[in-house]
Amino acid sequence: MSKQEIPYKIYLEEHEMPTQWYNVRADMKKKPAPLLNPGTLKPMTFEDLRPVFCDELVKQELDDTTPYIDIPQEIRDFYKMYRPSPLVRAYCLEKKLDTPAKIYYKFEGNNTSGSHKLNSAIAQAYYAKEQGLKGVTTETGAGQWGTALSMACSYLGLDCNVYMVKVSYEQKPFRREVMRTYGASVTPSPSETTQVGKKILAEHPGTTGSLGCAISEAVEAATHKEGYRYVLGSVLSQVLLHQSIIGLESKAAMDKYGIHPDLIIGCAGGGSNLGGLISPFMGEQLRGEANYQFIAVEPASCPSLTRGKYAYDFCDTGMVCPLAKMYTLGSGFIPSANHAGGLRYHGMSSVLSELYDQGLMQAVSVEQTQVFQAAEQFARVEGILPAPESSHAIRVAIDEALKCRETGEEKTILFGLTGTGYFDMVAYEKFHNGDMVDYIPTDEDLKAGFDGIPRFPGNME
Ligand SMILES: *Cc1c(COP(=O)(O)O)cnc(C)c1O
Repeated sequence: MSKQEIPYKIYLEEHEMPTQWYNVRADMKKKPAPLLNPGTLKPMTFEDLRPVFCDELVKQELDDTTPYIDIPQEIRDFYKMYRPSPLVRAYCLEKKLDTPAKIYYKFEGNNTSGSHKLNSAIAQAYYAKEQGLKGVTTETGAGQWGTALSMACSYLGLDCNVYMVKVSYEQKPFRREVMRTYGASVTPSPSETTQVGKKILAEHPGTTGSLGCAISEAVEAATHKEGYRYVLGSVLSQVLLHQSIIGLESKAAMDKYGIHPDLIIGCAGGGSNLGGLISPFMGEQLRGEANYQFIAVEPASCPSLTRGKYAYDFCDTGMVCPLAKMYTLGSGFIPSANHAGGLRYHGMSSVLSELYDQGLMQAVSVEQTQVFQAAEQFARVEGILPAPESSHAIRVAIDEALKCRETGEEKTILFGLTGTGYFDMVAYEKFHNGDMVDYIPTDEDLKAGFDGIPRFPGNME
């Protein structure tokens, strides 16, 4: 098809929207390693996980054989409020870069939470509601996940308790107020409302909190209150499943115009947007039907895939969650204080970790000043102010397009634009003022994190 015939924005009709999520684990010959019970080191069972997550989500978490799972009608109706999300042909960026590459991005920032996280928030809230639960608890760092969950819970009439890392609670009042607008209760963590919070406050008076600590509080709150469960916005296989809506829509839109992406790029924090974007394409590759190149992009200051260990590790600093086998920097790893670009989780989704380990996906790390340069370049020609997280993918998409300018190759590039950056203007300000510095942890810095990875036969010996 000639260039002119492909519109700037490809939208699907409502009736073309996916009615099932795709579970890429079903097509993996070697499956991701199971979650382990940290006490017994045996795989977590349905019964083990039930007190923490709601039943249907436990089933999805443990299911690595069913390829397609129906999206309940109520979730599909909710999706229709803000989906299908546009697949955009970045004609303006291509022109600016003077590249023969064809660049597409799937834009997930068109909802109040400003990111893709709403896709899984509504699914998790729906199953909690179906089970007759009163509410859910969770943690949030910067606030995107907490916002998405608040929106989903208010829509369904569920109570939503968010433990927000204290430093963000104090420094990001706008995110906090968006959550409260949707009726969520937001507690700065660590707090006096949980045993683990009290303990941390007694040991470290004046601490400003961390994500790992907020997770421990949210899990305790869920398991000690009748009618509550805990929900998590990334990393878990169920979250990748819900996020497959991103890839399914992208693929349907591209198929409509006969477009085959050569290169699929996404930013990777816990791996949910990237996993969701690549899933249906990876499925084709795993079944031997097509070939693609997949690239995960992570910050050089939090390089779990490119410099981490592939081992069983804790998902939280409080060590209350199951052990997951993943590329990890150790649950005690905390990125340098001057890291402003998000994607600061210490581990990576078990599904993506396994695909990466099998050589089916590549990973690169990028430094934050380069990321903000790309963000600004993109904002100026494509009319969207991107989230710092998303801008990691933009950086590599631009680099690949510039390589095409050198070689004359007309590659088709697809990348995930996960969200908008309006709540990240302090980070943009640092960049504009020249106060942003790049920091790459030394091997010595990383060793401290690796030392915290549990040792047992077959793991990190
Ligand atoms: C949370 C978030 C990410 C990273 O999370 P993943 O689970 O790795 O997708 C990326 N972009 C935005 C805008 C986010 O809010």
